Amino acid sequence: SDNDQHIVAKGGRGGWGNQHFATPTRQIPRFAKPGLDGEEYEVVLELKLLADVGLVGFPNVGKSTLVSVVSSAKPKIANYHFTTITPVLGVVKVEEEKSFVMADIPGLIEGASDGVGLGHAFLRHIDRCRLIVHIVDVSGSEDRDPKEDFIAINKELVNFNEDIAKRPQIAVANKIDMATDEQVQEFKEFVEEQGYTFFAMSAVTSVGVQDIVYEVWNRLEKLPPIKEYTPTFVKKEKETFSPDGKDFKITMNAGVYYVDAPWMESVLVGTDIDDYESLQYFQRLLRQKGIIDELEAMGVNEGDTVRILEFSFDYIR
Ligand code: GDP
Ligand code: MG
Repeated sequence: SDNDQHIVAKGGRGGWGNQHFATPTRQIPRFAKPGLDGEEYEVVLELKLLADVGLVGFPNVGKSTLVSVVSSAKPKIANYHFTTITPVLGVVKVEEEKSFVMADIPGLIEGASDGVGLGHAFLRHIDRCRLIVHIVDVSGSEDRDPKEDFIAINKELVNFNEDIAKRPQIAVANKIDMATDEQVQEFKEFVEEQGYTFFAMSAVTSVGVQDIVYEVWNRLEKLPPIKEYTPTFVKKEKETFSPDGKDFKITMNAGVYYVDAPWMESVLVGTDIDDYESLQYFQRLLRQKGIIDELEAMGVNEGDTVRILEFSFDYIR
């Protein structure tokens, strides 16, 4: 180890007294820097469900029912709106070794993208879905027009995020057990004109459900994996100490040597003057930088005071 003591803390910040440094006998790490000030950030974390498929549609169209019949997830199903208040994930097993994750995105209604209803909180989950299954109640059992509903939900998606609105989408007419053939046909033509793949089902009786499962699987096989966000690291500008090039200034006034360097503050903050090895590290740095050499060239004498920021040191050869 380097027992070559050049400077000894004399007092200053924290009121250190004169120090005598004995070589430590214990072989344990003693060198510790107090560290620089930390950084503080306020961050907003958004939790997004990872699902391959997201179910969207007005309340009561049968989204939760579909999830419950194709997976072992047990979402609440009832004939009133906003039954599902948290998104439910279900693993849909297509065949042995073939499965996908379906998310029941609840509460999507007109205005959801502006924060109406509960939809806004859930819309973001669609962001991580590769495929959207858009369900309507084709029977119009709640005096709703499935075509208008279909337009309204898609408008919500566009309002929320155009990128999400462009996700591939399958149009599913549910509740065919209660609908007339004309109703189903009319909706089929309506969506196919817009280029959507159409499927009809009755989630409660399971009619048509398996075809949709296979279609989803086939589509997923061709779709790119779920978008991943990779963080971009911003390197913080730091004062670097280049061993080459003189980046300090020493002035002498009334027998006191003043060392000034822009990087000194951060070095001293990181130095525990009370700690032997920490101080040694600091001294090595002063030597590397050429500060010791320059002090000597300036004619520093044993016991002279060297001032670095608010610290005073005794120069000891
Ligand atoms: P969600 O709000 O879209 O999740 O709708 P739910 O799955 O909770 O279903 C709402 C209501 O519609 C429930 O009473 C279901 O039993 C009923 N329902 C769902 N699918 C069908 C269907 O295919 N046919 C009929 N007749 N009723 C259905
Ligand atoms: Mg539901």
